[in-house]
Amino acid sequence: MPNLNTAISSFLRVGKASASRLARLGVHTAQDLLYYFPFRYEDFRTIVPIAGLREGQMVTVRARVEIIANRRTFRRRAMLTEALVSDGNNSLRVVWFNQPFLIKNIHPGDEIFLSGVVKGDMLGAQLVSPSYEKVPAGSTTHTARMVPMYPLTQGLTQKQLRALMKQVVPLAKEVPDWLPANLQEEHDLIPLSDALMGIHFPADEIDLQKSTERLKFDELFIIQLKAELSKRDRETRPAPAITFHEAEVKHFVSHLPFALTKAQKIAAWEILKDIAKPAPMNRLLCGDVGSGKTVVAALALYNTALTGFQGALMAPTEILAEQHFASLQKVFSDLDVNCALLTGSTSAKDRAAILHNLATGAIQVAVGTHALLTEDVHFSKLGIVIVDEQHRFGVAQRKFIKDKGSAVHFLSMTATPIPRSLALMLYGDLDVSVLSELPPGRKKIITRLAEPKNRDKAYQFIREQIGQGRQTFVVCPLISVEDAKKNKLTKEQGDIPQISNFKFQISNDDRKTVMSEYERLSKEIFPDIKVGYLHGKMKPKEKERVMDDFKNHKLGILVSTSVIEVGVDVPNASVMMIEGAEKFGLAQLHQFRGRVGRSSHQSYCILFTDSDSSKSLERLKYFEAHTDGFKLAEKDLEIRGPGEVYGAEQSGMMETRLAKLADVGILKKARDAAHSVASEIKKYPGVRARIEEFAQKVHLE
Ligand code: ADP
Ligand code: MG
Repeated sequence: MPNLNTAISSFLRVGKASASRLARLGVHTAQDLLYYFPFRYEDFRTIVPIAGLREGQMVTVRARVEIIANRRTFRRRAMLTEALVSDGNNSLRVVWFNQPFLIKNIHPGDEIFLSGVVKGDMLGAQLVSPSYEKVPAGSTTHTARMVPMYPLTQGLTQKQLRALMKQVVPLAKEVPDWLPANLQEEHDLIPLSDALMGIHFPADEIDLQKSTERLKFDELFIIQLKAELSKRDRETRPAPAITFHEAEVKHFVSHLPFALTKAQKIAAWEILKDIAKPAPMNRLLCGDVGSGKTVVAALALYNTALTGFQGALMAPTEILAEQHFASLQKVFSDLDVNCALLTGSTSAKDRAAILHNLATGAIQVAVGTHALLTEDVHFSKLGIVIVDEQHRFGVAQRKFIKDKGSAVHFLSMTATPIPRSLALMLYGDLDVSVLSELPPGRKKIITRLAEPKNRDKAYQFIREQIGQGRQTFVVCPLISVEDAKKNKLTKEQGDIPQISNFKFQISNDDRKTVMSEYERLSKEIFPDIKVGYLHGKMKPKEKERVMDDFKNHKLGILVSTSVIEVGVDVPNASVMMIEGAEKFGLAQLHQFRGRVGRSSHQSYCILFTDSDSSKSLERLKYFEAHTDGFKLAEKDLEIRGPGEVYGAEQSGMMETRLAKLADVGILKKARDAAHSVASEIKKYPGVRARIEEFAQKVHLE
């Protein structure tokens, strides 16, 4: 007797080939298959007499086969299988293409169901390549019902997968329901085994909806509960209580060259309040490009230094680290705070001195890249770790950061606007502060999706801007070999060492995107203007030099890959021109656009695309019309899903097969349930076991 752990290969009609194809889908056992869900259903429930068929209808016909035969088409040399079937009153023509084996399965006299869309021609109604099955003794599988459609892999057909599922689905009864009955009742959920059957072979829409809801709930509940437990666990761990030095902080704020926005004040207050507690803060500061996150970080670092603790501020690239360092030096200039910059390019001698001073506590604030994470960096009294754009660090680095942060206060900052519902799904154990407004006085950036024929005009415009003393960014997409195959964009790795799971390969052809554009602009279009280029494969020193040249206005135009995506601050730049704009996500385009408009000069974002796909154009039009980063992020999520928007790894943390961002109602239920269960987790051994199982699985991946 098969059970849940039975290998999929021991089921009927699963050969070696099918088993290895299923393995490719992550399906090894019966239980795996039960959790391999359909992505949609074909509604073949309407059984219609042949006389009642209407063109375009999706129907099922129950009929007896009168004739069935193969024939070669005259011109196209395809194999046709033609059949005539009758329901006793009328007959119907049926055609299949290139399935000659059908005549071995279906014989004259068989009673069959045929499901498909009715086509009509001058000879009357016809079914073309319908799903078929002999009228079974029990329930149908491929016809005359809501038929599940599964994501497939090469060599595997819907029919095979469905037939296998039909064998396996009765085992759903053996899946233990780990969710306590009281919770099922409270949240109006059906038993797990029913849900596992219903999602594959739903009796009707209501059954399907109830089944999906139960399974989505499970996914979200586990994530939320895990987050809630880790939050509770964190709250029991010690961290230095960093006293709020109100007078000094107020003095600091009053000496800034600007007044803080209301959002900055609130965020700073939330952070200062958190770090004053003797348990580690874990907070995300989320604010659009230019919303002023750095100064909020500076406030936290300053207050930490006043208390006699050290702070670390980490950025994913050297360029950004340098910029943060420069900003901090500026705001700390009259204060008694020692800052140091530690990156991969720091000389061995400087590095040794910095390490020494960090160990003694003489340096209070360390700014740097992942170079701060190496084993030999020791702080004497680390109080807070702040990480900018954490998602751009590799997996191992993120883990390192997380471990390091377990006994200190932890703040991560991101310019990717994360809708609240997603933030909860991704990081249920984080508190979130949002900088929802930009500092006053910023001019709106004028965005235009330019037609290819207007390219000369765009160059003319850039020439005028440069004539007025401004500067221009030109961004080109850089595509990795693997992703080029999939025709998708990948992000640039920049300075991030490749210790993450996915390897990026940058082909020489793609590097030419930046280089050839650079050649064209510097030689043909703007021979009289100084043009520079920047890409992630350049040595840090070279990059630094180019960035400095651009900042110091030695270059008029900078041609770059997406390395300039985050944070780079050149207030004099007024034009952002983006080539191959369709290759970037909306959130990323928004980041690029945020590179300009950082001063009082009117700024512009010009997009070019070679794509004529209406989908791409619609997306770019949306970008042209919207400036709110949160709106764009939501649209991006809607179109591309969190995997594309936030990176596979990051949304992989979400680990949901069914639950989507839009499932706000279920998410709320799951949160409520997680909250109540977390406070008395001892009462729920089954849930606890499940959590451990889940943690192990995530850990293994
Ligand atoms: P981001 O959130 O993108 O990291 P930054 O911290 O780099 O933004 O700030 C962008 C620019 O805005 C910086 O030049 C900074 O000095 C300035 N800035 C920050 N806060 C304010 C404010 N309240 N009023 C005016 N300018 C501000
Ligand atoms: Mg920033």
